[in-house]
Amino acid sequence: FPSKLPHVGTTIFTVMSALAAEHGAVNLGQGFPDFECDPALVNAVTQAMKNGHNQYPPMPGISALREAVALKIEALHGRKYDPTTEITITAGATQAIFTAILAIVHAGDEVIVLDPCYDSYAPNIELAGGTVVRVPLTPGTFRPDFDRIGAAITPRTRALIINSPHNPSATIWSAADMQKLQDLLAPTNILLISDEVYEHMVFDGAEHQSAARFPGLASRAFVVSSFGKTFHVTGWKVGAVAAPASLTAEFRKVHQFNVFTVNTPMQHGLAEHLRDPAPYLQLPAFYQAKRDLFRHGLEGSRLKLLPSTGSYFQCVDISEISTLPESDFCQWLTREVGVAAIPLSAFYGDSFNQGVIRFCFAKNDATLREAITRLRKL
Ligand code: PMP
Ligand code: GLN
Repeated sequence: FPSKLPHVGTTIFTVMSALAAEHGAVNLGQGFPDFECDPALVNAVTQAMKNGHNQYPPMPGISALREAVALKIEALHGRKYDPTTEITITAGATQAIFTAILAIVHAGDEVIVLDPCYDSYAPNIELAGGTVVRVPLTPGTFRPDFDRIGAAITPRTRALIINSPHNPSATIWSAADMQKLQDLLAPTNILLISDEVYEHMVFDGAEHQSAARFPGLASRAFVVSSFGKTFHVTGWKVGAVAAPASLTAEFRKVHQFNVFTVNTPMQHGLAEHLRDPAPYLQLPAFYQAKRDLFRHGLEGSRLKLLPSTGSYFQCVDISEISTLPESDFCQWLTREVGVAAIPLSAFYGDSFNQGVIRFCFAKNDATLREAITRLRKL
């Protein structure tokens, strides 16, 4: 039968993790921590199971977790979301984004994404019958180019997807960027999906500029977060979406027939864990130290470090080392040098090669040191 996604293969993250395992390479490819989460979080989940929280929770998520998410957003960004009608717990950010797209995109609608972008966006839009409109971020700096975004808007544009802190470039949007976006969208009915899964990983004193802070954006936005990133539990696949009631109502229509709801004991554990803001408030310092360790280790090596101002990624320019396509270089690096990385070309619509690859530094210091030792031999 005809494939619905003829040009799609297995995601690069799965491919590179398998290759890393096969060759015993240090896996700095797929983004996930190689250290444990806070044992208190595991205890809270275990306790929830022992307390009998093992059946279906309410469709939008348990109220304690929705309330905790609403309180957190209000404390950090000053916008009050109603946990009853405006917050939904999802099976990770992946499902949140897919569900939001399915809920709003009609056949023939255009959705603007900013290349490079996370690899699930485009297939999600296509599966919804939409057309992907790719607008490049500024080459070299990965800064948003609002003239180009504006020029891509047509009467068919249904939505725009943004992502700050940004995977893969590790750049962040400033308040001025968000303000410019707000001004650009003001005369339109374009909806916004703001992928903020790295919201607590911003460095050098910068602040995360959530779409929730900008009334003209928040009123049209699905603000997406992921507990997997924030609490070092990517395998749990629990996230949240904050959106105005009218958007949330449409979101939940799809959510209820997609996953229906998200596993109960983890929701209870996360609600309990969110009572203390310290774990996520400490995250910038925690990851900044890892970023600095990795960067200092690579200084003077043949890998040219690009800035990393947010997320848990570090991009490097390899164009002086090799003219191989990024993807071939990453395969070679994994096999021969023993360090797995992700080619930036995987985040573009066409196979655009600029000689840049991405490392994930959400790793134990010993893992990072081993990778540095190997990479310095390049
Ligand atoms: N968006 C971006 C930008 C991501 O990097 C990721 C995780 N790799 C996701 C969404 C998906 O997050 P989750 O694991 O919560 O589904
Ligand atoms: N978001 C992670 C990354 O960019 C991977 C998630 C996944 O494997 N789907 O590496």
